Amino acid sequence: MTDSIQVDLNFSLGGKVALVTGGASGIGSAIASAFAAKGAVVGVIDINESVARSKADELGNGAKSFVCDVSDPRSVEAVFAAAQAAFGRIDIVVNSAGVALLAPAEDLSLDAWDKTIDINLKGTFLVSQAAGRALIKAGKGGKIINMASQAGTVAIDQHVAYCASKFGVIGLSKTLAAEWGKHGITVNTISPTVVLTDLGRKAWDGPRGEALKQRIPTGRFAFPEEIAAAAVFLASNGADMINGADLLVDGGYTIV
Ligand code: NAD
Repeated sequence: MTDSIQVDLNFSLGGKVALVTGGASGIGSAIASAFAAKGAVVGVIDINESVARSKADELGNGAKSFVCDVSDPRSVEAVFAAAQAAFGRIDIVVNSAGVALLAPAEDLSLDAWDKTIDINLKGTFLVSQAAGRALIKAGKGGKIINMASQAGTVAIDQHVAYCASKFGVIGLSKTLAAEWGKHGITVNTISPTVVLTDLGRKAWDGPRGEALKQRIPTGRFAFPEEIAAAAVFLASNGADMINGADLLVDGGYTIV
C-alpha cells in the first residue's frame, strides 16, 4: 500500500494493449480510434473480417485485426492466443460486439432470442472470462469494459431479449468485478442511450425514435465518440478505483 499515487489527468493509454470486440464498426470502432489516439496498441476483433482489417490498417500504431465469433468459445480462445502471440501482453479488453433483434415480446422468435443472448450475454461472458484468465496469469491487473445499454436498467418497448441480455451484462460485470478486484482487475459497464451507429439507426429511425428522443433530457441521441470518451476514462489509471460501476451515457433518459 503506497501513501499517494500519481493520476495521469491526460488519461494516456501509452504502452497499453487493448482488445476491442465489435471493433470494426459503430461504438467499437470509435473506441478503437480513441484508444489508438491515446497511445494504445489496438487489437480489432470482429466477425466481419474485411472491415476489421481496414479498421486496423486505418489505426496504425501496430494495430492488428482478428476474426472472431464472440459466441463461440473456441473462436474466443483462438483469438486470445493469437493476440497474446502478436502483442505479448493484454491490458484492456472492451466487449462491444452486439446485436439488436427487435419485435413485440409476443412475436419474438426463439431464434432471435437465442442469437441475442448468445452474442450479447454469452459472448460478453466468454470474452470477459478469457480476458480475466489472461490478466490474472500476467499478474499486472487490467481493465475490462463491457457495453451494456440504458436497456440494461429500464424496460424498452420491443426489446425483450435485448433488455434481458443487457441486464445480464450488468449483473455478470458486477460479479466479475467483485471476484477479480483482488487481482487489480476492474470490470465496468457503459450504458448508452441510442447511439448514431448502424445498429442504433436501424432500431430507432422513424416515429418510435422521435418519441424516445423527446424523453431524453438532453434532447438528442449520442454519438459513438461520446461513448469512446467514457471508455478512455474507464480504461485509464484515473479509474483504478472504479469497479463494478455502470456508467450511464444516456443524456438522463433513465432518471426521468
Ligand atoms: P454496430 O452494429 O455498429 O457494431 C457491432 C459490431 O459487432 C459489428 O462490427 C459486428 O460485425 C460485430 N459483431 C456482431 N456479432 C458479432 C459476433 N458474433 N462476434 C464478433 N463480432 C460481432 O453496433 P453498435 O451500435 O456499435 O453497438 C455496439 C454495442 O453497443 C452493442 O453491444 C450494443 O448493444 C451496444 N449499444 C448500442 C446502442 C446504439 O444505439 N447503437 C445503444 C446502447 C448500447
